[in-house]
Amino acid sequence: MERTLAIIKPDAVKRGFVGGILVEIQSAGLSVCGLRMIRLAKEQAEAFYEVHQARPFYASLCAYMSSGPVVVMVLEGEGAIARWRDLMGATDPAKAAAGTIRKKFGVDVEQNAAHGSDAPETASREIPFFFRTLDIV
Ligand code: UDP
Ligand code: MG
Repeated sequence: MERTLAIIKPDAVKRGFVGGILVEIQSAGLSVCGLRMIRLAKEQAEAFYEVHQARPFYASLCAYMSSGPVVVMVLEGEGAIARWRDLMGATDPAKAAAGTIRKKFGVDVEQNAAHGSDAPETASREIPFFFRTLDIV
């Protein structure tokens, strides 16, 4: 069993896609073992994405991620990290495969509906960023 950190980003929450994305997650056989709606302060978005701080899109990304509520989740299943990344699709919705969450629900390369940890080490940092052990069922 593996766990990954998933986020439904502000654009998708704002446009009413939380339910649709949860359906995709559960249809794919991933279990939701933690879930919360929060609004990130800009400093919290900056800390979460600090690995990208040298990138040209960092400031805009952090402003966007703190622009409205997000849904943070812990997903669990065999190979959950790769399976959630596959289900999300490519970073740029325009390049994402048909049927993926970013293709269906994303707006553009920044407002791309969802986040997923990209490796076990990333998940180990990202899950405790949002969830205490006792908040994961
Ligand atoms: N992003 C962006 N412009 C880019 C690349 C990425 O605004 O050219 C944003 C986008 O929201 C993306 C996030 O930064 O999801 C993190 O980028 P990363 O390369 O880690 O993509 P991901 O792992 O989310 O597919
Ligand atoms: Mg990434």
